[in-house]
Amino acid sequence: MQESVMQRMWNSAHLSGGNAAYVEELYELYLHDPNAVPEEWRTYFQKLPNDGGNTTDVPHSPIRDHFVLLAKNQRRAQPASAASVSSEHEKKQVQVLRLIQAFRARGHQAAKLDPLGLWQRQVPADLTIQNYGLTDADLDTTFQTGELFIGKEAATLREIVQSLQDTYCRTIGAEFNHITDSEQRKWFAQRLESVRGRPTYSRDAQAHLLERLTAAEGLEKYLGTKYPGTKRFGLEGGESLIPMVDEIIQRSGSYGMKEIVIGMAHRGRLNMLVNTFGKNPRDLFDEFEGKKVEGLSSGDVKYHQGFSSNVTTPGGELHLAMAFNPSHLEIVSPVVEGSVRARQDRRLDPNGDKVLPVSIHGDAAFAGQGVVMETFQMSQIRGFKTGGTIHIVINNQVGFTTSNPLDARSTEYATDVAKMIEAPILHVNGDDPEAVLFVTQLAVDYRMQFKRDVVLDLVCYRRRGHNEADEPSGTQPLMYQQIAKQRTTRELYADALIKAGAQTNEDVQAKIDEYRTALDNGQHVVKSLVKEPNPDLFVDWTPYLGHAWTARHDTRVPLDKLREIAAGLTRIPEGFVVQRQVGKVYEDRQKMTAGAMPINWGYAETLAYATLLHDGHPVRMTGQDVGRGTFSHRHAALHSQKDATTYIPLKNLFEGQPRFDLYDSFLSEEAVLAFEYGYATTTPNALVIWEAQFGDFANGAQVVFDQFISSGETKWGRLCGLTVLLPHGYEGQGPEHSSARLERYLQLCAEHNIQVCVPTTPAQVYHMLRRQVVRPLRKPLIALTPKSLLRHPLAISTLEDLAEGSFQTVIPEVDAVDPAKVERLIMCSGKVYYDLLTKRRNEGRDDTIIVRIEQLYPFPEEDLAEIIAPYKNLKKVIWCQEEPMNQGAWYCSQHHMRRVASAHQKGLFLEYAGREASASPACGYPSMHAEQQEKLLHDAFNI
Ligand code: AMP
Repeated sequence: MQESVMQRMWNSAHLSGGNAAYVEELYELYLHDPNAVPEEWRTYFQKLPNDGGNTTDVPHSPIRDHFVLLAKNQRRAQPASAASVSSEHEKKQVQVLRLIQAFRARGHQAAKLDPLGLWQRQVPADLTIQNYGLTDADLDTTFQTGELFIGKEAATLREIVQSLQDTYCRTIGAEFNHITDSEQRKWFAQRLESVRGRPTYSRDAQAHLLERLTAAEGLEKYLGTKYPGTKRFGLEGGESLIPMVDEIIQRSGSYGMKEIVIGMAHRGRLNMLVNTFGKNPRDLFDEFEGKKVEGLSSGDVKYHQGFSSNVTTPGGELHLAMAFNPSHLEIVSPVVEGSVRARQDRRLDPNGDKVLPVSIHGDAAFAGQGVVMETFQMSQIRGFKTGGTIHIVINNQVGFTTSNPLDARSTEYATDVAKMIEAPILHVNGDDPEAVLFVTQLAVDYRMQFKRDVVLDLVCYRRRGHNEADEPSGTQPLMYQQIAKQRTTRELYADALIKAGAQTNEDVQAKIDEYRTALDNGQHVVKSLVKEPNPDLFVDWTPYLGHAWTARHDTRVPLDKLREIAAGLTRIPEGFVVQRQVGKVYEDRQKMTAGAMPINWGYAETLAYATLLHDGHPVRMTGQDVGRGTFSHRHAALHSQKDATTYIPLKNLFEGQPRFDLYDSFLSEEAVLAFEYGYATTTPNALVIWEAQFGDFANGAQVVFDQFISSGETKWGRLCGLTVLLPHGYEGQGPEHSSARLERYLQLCAEHNIQVCVPTTPAQVYHMLRRQVVRPLRKPLIALTPKSLLRHPLAISTLEDLAEGSFQTVIPEVDAVDPAKVERLIMCSGKVYYDLLTKRRNEGRDDTIIVRIEQLYPFPEEDLAEIIAPYKNLKKVIWCQEEPMNQGAWYCSQHHMRRVASAHQKGLFLEYAGREASASPACGYPSMHAEQQEKLLHDAFNI
């Protein structure tokens, strides 16, 4: 048996002073990756006094001293002459281990990843043997392989280098050395090296790959001939995507996966829908011919459409969902995550064993869009994680017309952002379908084992322009000269298989003909498609379809029941020590239940959640600081002062209760809101809430409001009951955080797409939240919520108000007034109401009533008309708001109020009392704020 490195080193007094430097290098290697050094060295290093485990920051001096001491002892024990015979070899041995490490870390930089062969990259010096003081003369010397997984303990340098080049520098570029966890790094090294980067696939597998490529290419050719010049954002140049996604589905199916949700932009989407999801080609042709989808008022272009189907896999039937996608790149990724998390929650699948997210990106958008980073950030956060996402970058090396990396990014690869969460990145040359298959298998296996994100960078090209009507050679002359010469992926692979005797010309042609015939006949082209899908695999939305916004509902909960529920809500476990003020909040809540105190906002809100849970509806709430509430009104999560454990009463109401999920979110608005949109569009029976810390924080998520929340139903028929709470109110706090930009939401309103409410009492917020779920209608709710009003002595309700009543879209005058005397009607929303009320009471004005519009959209014209009907002598009708004239409800809602006023009494004119138009939402000086506020109140009563 061959002598081990360790033995030889010891025997040759390797640890003598002269060799200490090399051992130190070996030690450094070990610190970087314990698996990079042979087992016996690892064991040895582990026992060293100052072994820092896996940190590279360990000072070396104690180690060096340790070796010097050892060496002294060695010298004493051994004759000096035995030393240097093999010490030269041992030095080289260490360098060989370093070389192996270098290939693992940087081999991808020498890999042939670009199918067009246009990349000009220098092979890093540390991938050459010379870099390590080795020469060609060493090539036939045998070295220990360390933990190079090539099935032998020792090999010649020539074989070691060859195996490294085969593994790391062919058509796969594997980046995994940035992962801190050595088990994961070892996993990749082992999987890649053991097959030298290229497993042998069976003839059946090869035939299947070719069939999939034939389908991918066949569809584009067919559409190109049938609808020349029509935009379809074809996949040509990236056809390997189809076998890649196919493999993800089949392989994860064999792991027992039950659902996969895929998000992708326009490129290749039609191809995927027909060739992977089994969309009937005839339906696609109808779309090319401009046929409208019944029931959608606006609809969307075909390459934004979602789709659902079920396919068979080795592990059983699997449900596939393609998310609807707007043109705004990358924003669908967090929506997919939210949808997946909702499905996992429904299936009680906390580890992500049953539902898999797949996000397909473009290279330019992946590098350019900030929401990519936000989505990665959520990947391991407890409120948002989904057990790992498989990301695919269709890297066609062009972002519309921008292909020069100097203009596209500051990083080497388009995928570098993924390293922020240490995701492994597998680059692969799209013209090598077997390499594509292999990295896909690795990605699925990695995700299933480690439950973390993984990125597949499919390096390909775009055979045509940005779309089929676009001419790319004007901006990318050299690239497109090469593309004109480039044979297709299918042709190249078919030739290779024919050459290897795995396929015949006839086999290849038969695949082409078969596919074309299926398309001619308008047949499904996915063999695994389930014709009668198992409906248990997805949610039934039919109970929520077809309801008018006035749908009947009853949000009451009988008083006794309410008290019983309240008891659970205010119960704190024995021995759980809460902070003093929080304890007071809970004591007050007990008094409120007993009727000894009026109900305040925070309690009414939490009672809404508790009663919904009792009704069987799950509740999910996220946002910045939602547990406590930005303004400390909620205290839904209690923190033990003894041991910092958390107790959430709403989670502990009764045995077998529905989920109550409450998560303080990370500091993102865009991705988090998109996530919650995805969650809500997948969970119709739940109350799903996102709360902005201050209302204007939602500015950072504007795209989600525009592209999804306000228009998802009319574009795609996707219902959504998401609730968004936006703290709003002018309290002299300056331009930021005063305004939730009400006007933006009102401007988005049409066709009863969303609801915009501004509740002003605890009972109103209670009934509004309950209505959102109790009513079968699913419409997004934008609710402007208060700040100072949370503790305003007049903004109170009684338990009876909660037990009885309902959400009032308009609240009539609350004081007893004689209608005959009333000449002035002031309408308003939100906090200003209490200022107006106080002023009127102080001034004893009995000619004025104040009516609150609590739902600004859909505007309750009928309710308002009914409420003002008794006031026959009105001379003045005023809309009063705190916001500047160009903001708030004035411009967007006045036509409704005018209509009601003029119907009430001909010639009745609507007037405005509020701040002057302003570029900024609010002023920054408290004194100016106070003056403005006083003036608008004065105007309301004196115009
Ligand atoms: P999915 O699991 O997302 O593929 O959805 C399965 C089916 O449920 C879809 O084909 C739709 O018919 C229906 N569906 C899903 N989500 C919604 C929604 N937000 N609004 C209306 N119907 C939906």
